Amino acid sequence: MCATCGCSGTTAVRLLPAGVPEEAGAGRQAGHPHGHADHEHPGHEHPEHHEHPEHAEHAEHPEHAEHAEHPEHPDHAEHPEHHIHQHDQQSQADERTVQLQQKVLAKNDRLAQLNRDWLRQRGVLAINLMSSPGAGKTTLLERTARELKGKMSFSVIEGDQAAMLDAERIRAAGCHVVQINTGVGCHLDAEMVAEGLRLLDPPSGSVVMIENVGNLVCPALFDLGEEARVVLASVAEGDDKPLKYPYMFRQADLVLVSKTDLLPYVNFDSKRHAADVRRTAPDALMLKVSATTGAGMSDWYAWLRRRTPVPQE
Ligand code: MG
Repeated sequence: MCATCGCSGTTAVRLLPAGVPEEAGAGRQAGHPHGHADHEHPGHEHPEHHEHPEHAEHAEHPEHAEHAEHPEHPDHAEHPEHHIHQHDQQSQADERTVQLQQKVLAKNDRLAQLNRDWLRQRGVLAINLMSSPGAGKTTLLERTARELKGKMSFSVIEGDQAAMLDAERIRAAGCHVVQINTGVGCHLDAEMVAEGLRLLDPPSGSVVMIENVGNLVCPALFDLGEEARVVLASVAEGDDKPLKYPYMFRQADLVLVSKTDLLPYVNFDSKRHAADVRRTAPDALMLKVSATTGAGMSDWYAWLRRRTPVPQE
């Protein structure tokens, strides 16, 4: 469950290997043949892997407390201080909700750390790529995959509420890709990514790009076990996002100002935007890119190369 908006849903995870027809890819997911790889995977090492996330929370659900002290009991209704009891009940429910949110995030943090440990041991760089919808995440990855082909080992986890559209685009660019559909969920979490990594089985010395669900709010809260966070801010969406969504920008290691080829046609104050990013995320590097024209892409590739681990023996 999302600690901010309460979203949750049935997650579907599908592997689309590069160069393999979709039916074959879907089959691999249904009957995973990598028996030995299973034991190495973070998902199988998670101590809570078989626990349903909502089981532990069930006992403390705020509504259970309300059932215990029925708000419509006649004694309560007639009591002169009934409104005070209602206020107390609401405060208790709020307190339990906060505790529940903390538990959800604490559990996600534990699973994220297991992902991070596994990625480091294997020598794989994972990057959490976040932005609002339509900022150009997939277009950036398509061009990156095509231009780094043969120079860098590269795979992708795609997060969207529904559809396989982005996974198809990435596969067409020559990459192994896993599509995670989150249903009503508005972000990826560490458990979903563990399943994606299990299916991708990325080799040592490679890069896994995790394209999060397009959303500037909730993805900022959920550690996935990534080594770096990259936030895209397209010039088409306006220059006010760092001020309006500070939590997202504050945790960025790199801010990519995207779609710069559109600058002549949109109202975007680059100086003001850069100053607001500096104030919000003083340690983040900023680069300007256009995945359409290729401008600035070499700086992005250099940033990636500096972080890519050396393959292990
Ligand atoms: Mg996309």
